[in-house]
Amino acid sequence: MTNKFVRPEIAEMEPYVPIVPFEVLSARLGRAPEEIVKLDANENPYGPSPKALEALRNGRFFHIYPDPESNQLRDALSNYVQMPKARLLTGMGADELIDLVLRVVLSPGDVVIDCPPSFGMYPFSTAVNSGQYVPVWRNEDFSLDVDGIETAVAQHPTAKILFLCSPNNPDGSTIPDADLRRLLQLPVLVVLDEAYVDFDLNRKEREERKDKAEKNFALSASFAVQNSSRIHWTLEYDNLAVLRTFSKLAGLAGLRVGYGAFPEWLLPQLWKIKQPYNINVAASLAALASLEDQAWLQEKVQLLVAERERLFTELGTISYLNPFPSQSNFILCRVNGRDARQLKLDLEQAGILVRYFNKPGLDNCIRISAGRPEETDKLLMTLKEL
Ligand SMILES: *Cc1c(COP(=O)(O)O)cnc(C)c1O
Repeated sequence: MTNKFVRPEIAEMEPYVPIVPFEVLSARLGRAPEEIVKLDANENPYGPSPKALEALRNGRFFHIYPDPESNQLRDALSNYVQMPKARLLTGMGADELIDLVLRVVLSPGDVVIDCPPSFGMYPFSTAVNSGQYVPVWRNEDFSLDVDGIETAVAQHPTAKILFLCSPNNPDGSTIPDADLRRLLQLPVLVVLDEAYVDFDLNRKEREERKDKAEKNFALSASFAVQNSSRIHWTLEYDNLAVLRTFSKLAGLAGLRVGYGAFPEWLLPQLWKIKQPYNINVAASLAALASLEDQAWLQEKVQLLVAERERLFTELGTISYLNPFPSQSNFILCRVNGRDARQLKLDLEQAGILVRYFNKPGLDNCIRISAGRPEETDKLLMTLKEL
């Protein structure tokens, strides 16, 4: 029973179901957090870089409000992604930036186009902001239905935003350049979510990085942008925003810090409505120090990409699993001939957490994050026994 004061869109919304807090789950399973193999939320198992931890230990101004413009961090990001600082905005995770863009752009009832299965925050924030959610389902192999998106835009004169995610969560597929360029011709603002782009290295780059890794990571700032990010495309297209985050790459999911590159016309409006102190002092210190620890970050990317590849190969040898190729730090599997939920619960009893899905496009699926090699070992051993 809702009160008459509650906005109808909010009253009708399905509540967001957050994952069970780690401490609660660890108590429930009767295992210490360190013993749990946590492969359910694509977090970075290596945690923050040692430089980030040191910066947090040495922080001296936690009692002072942070810089509303995040100048230091945006300067460092500008150098890192080789983009003008004026085009960059930081957020309390990429999640806040998703919400901010919708708040600026949507009038009640305006259409947001999403391509599920994809990230749950797009429908969530659309509903919170009174948007009309229009899904254009992906193809069987999780590629985009580009024709379908064009049709949906043509059919909805109030279509304002198209969410795209590359690599896509939960399957890890990427959007080819040609498809993205075609979609950028549409009269909508394209929000391209690159939360996992750091793990999208093509084979040649991967080989080059391996060579460099062996030469002890003598890395320059420019090295950091050698993934397949389209963040520079925001200079070319004025209907493109690109979102990135420190959560998956830099192990800072718990500190909530992300950033994005936005069109010139959108920036003043975003600045106007954002909470002044959205990036807290600790998050800013840790993010800055992480950017100064490229060698460490890239070494961990290498390790996680290697684990992803090993996972894909090994999961393919398990009779009841059908893994999808991924350019991210996780592998989605369809479970055949047995119940994916039961499989998730059985793994949980063994102290291994994976993500379970059972919704359209993802029926009877599990998603497994790339972990440390010993975590992959334990997972594979358990899967073979079950
Ligand atoms: C994890 C994730 C995010 C959230 O990033 P935060 O910076 O932690 O808010 C955004 N997009 C996708 C696709 C994600 O999986």
